Amino acid sequence: MDECIFCMIIRGEIPCAKVYDDKDVIAFLDINPSSAGHVLVVPKKHSTNILETEEKDISACFKAIKKIAPALLQALGAQGFNTGINTHKAAGQAVMHTHIHLIPRFENDNLLTFPHTKYLEGQMEEIREKIVGSIGKK
Ligand code: 5GP
Ligand code: ZN
Repeated sequence: MDECIFCMIIRGEIPCAKVYDDKDVIAFLDINPSSAGHVLVVPKKHSTNILETEEKDISACFKAIKKIAPALLQALGAQGFNTGINTHKAAGQAVMHTHIHLIPRFENDNLLTFPHTKYLEGQMEEIREKIVGSIGKK
C-alpha cells in the first residue's frame, strides 16, 4: 500500500524507533504514547484491520508480544501492560493498517481503563442470543 504510513515505516521510507523486527512483524514506539514505552506491534503484510489479517500474521504478532512484553516489564519496571486493538473509526482506529497497542502500566498511573456499566433486566440474555445467532453468518 503506497500511501499507508505503517507500510512506509515497514519499507524504511520513514523512520521509527524500532524495538523488534522479524520476518512477519515489526514493532516500534508509538509517536504519541499513552505511557512511555507504548509499543505498536504491526504485521508486515498490509491488512486494514484485524478482521482482514491472516491468522498466521495474528499469531506472529502475539508471538512477538510474548517476547516484547516481558522486556517492557523488565527494562521499564512496568508492573503490567495492556494490549489493545482498535477496529474501525468508531473504536478509535486512526491508522488503517492492523496494529496491536502494547501499553506499559504502573500501579496508580491513573491511565483510563474501560468503564463498566450494568445491563437492564433481561438485556444481557437478549444481547447474548443476538451474538450467538450471528456467529459464523458473515
Ligand atoms: P489507532 O488509533 O489507529 O489504534 O493507533 C494508531 C497509533 O499510531 C496512534 O497511537 C498514533 O500515535 C500512532 N502513530 C500514528 N502515526 C505514527 C507514526 O508515523 N509513527 C509512529 N511511531 N506512530 C504513529
Ligand atoms: Zn499498510
